[in-house]
Amino acid sequence: MLKGDAVAAAIRASVKDQIQELCGAGANPPHVAIILAAEDSAAHVYIGSVERAFAHVGIDSRRVQLTQGATTDDLIAAIQRLAHDPEVQGILLPTPLPHSLSLIAAQDALPPDKDIEGISSTNVGRLALGKPKSIPATPLGGMEILRHYGISVEGKRAVVIGRSAVVGWPMATLLTQAGATVTICHRQTRDLASMTRQADVLVSAAGQPGLVSAGMVQPGAVVIDFGVSMTPHGMRGDVDFDAVAAVAGAITPVPGGTGPVTAAVLVRNVVEATIRQHKAQGQ
Ligand code: ADP
Repeated sequence: MLKGDAVAAAIRASVKDQIQELCGAGANPPHVAIILAAEDSAAHVYIGSVERAFAHVGIDSRRVQLTQGATTDDLIAAIQRLAHDPEVQGILLPTPLPHSLSLIAAQDALPPDKDIEGISSTNVGRLALGKPKSIPATPLGGMEILRHYGISVEGKRAVVIGRSAVVGWPMATLLTQAGATVTICHRQTRDLASMTRQADVLVSAAGQPGLVSAGMVQPGAVVIDFGVSMTPHGMRGDVDFDAVAAVAGAITPVPGGTGPVTAAVLVRNVVEATIRQHKAQGQ
C-alpha cells in the first residue's frame, strides 16, 4: 500500500525548515495570490483546502476575485499586477476558467518564476525540455511516491491513462525522463485493457471511478491512482481498489494516496519559487 501521508509529512517537514530559514534571514513568509475567476463552489472547496495547506506551514495567501463579467484582458491585467508585485511570490490560477476567458492567454502571461502550478506556457515548454522551474504538483507528487517507496521506473514499461496538461501529459513526460518507456492512453484508445496489461507501472488520471479493473492489471504491477470522483459511496479513484490490490504489487489508495502528496508538493513549489526569486534579487 503506497500511502501518501508519510510522503507528504516528509515533504512538509523539509518545507517547514526551508521557511524557517527564509524567515530567519529576515524575509517575510512566502505569499501566494489566488486568482478567482469563477464563482463555482467546487473550485472554492479546492481553494479552501489549498489555503489550509499553505497556512499550516506558514505561507500567507490572499484571494484576488475578478469582477463578474471580467474579460480575458481583465484577467491578464490582474496577472500582470501580481507579476510586478514584490510582495507576491506565487500566483495560483485555479482551473477550469469560465468559457469566456482564454486559458492560453493567461498561461502566456503567467510569469514562470511565480507560476507555482507549472501551467505557464514557459514552464510547460521547459518541462518538455527537461528544465522546468515548477512542475504540476499532482504528477510530481506521483513521482515522489515512487521515490519514497524506492520504486525505480528505469527501463520499465509505464502506461498513463489520461493526457491532460496538468496530470496525464506531465506524468508521462516525468516517467519518460526517469527512464521508463511510456504509452499514453486516452478516450480514443482502442482496447485499453490490452495496453494496461503491459504496464509494469500503471498510472490512471481519467476521473472515471472503477475504470481500472483487476483484469486490466499485470500481476505485480505498481498502480498509481490520481482519480478523484465523488460517488454515492464516497470518494473513489479510477481503480477498483479491492480487486486490483489483490493483483498489484503496490498501489495507492483513494483517499490517502496521491491527494495528500499533491498538496505537500504544491506547498514546496511555493517555497522553491520564493527561494528562486530571492536568489534572482541577490537576497
Ligand atoms: P485531469 O485534469 O484529472 O487529468 P481531465 O478530465 O482533464 O482530468 O482528463 C481526463 C483524461 O482522461 C483525458 O485525457 C481523457 O482522454 C482520459 N479518459 C477519460 N475517460 C477515459 C476512458 N474511459 N478511457 C481512456 N481514457 C479516458
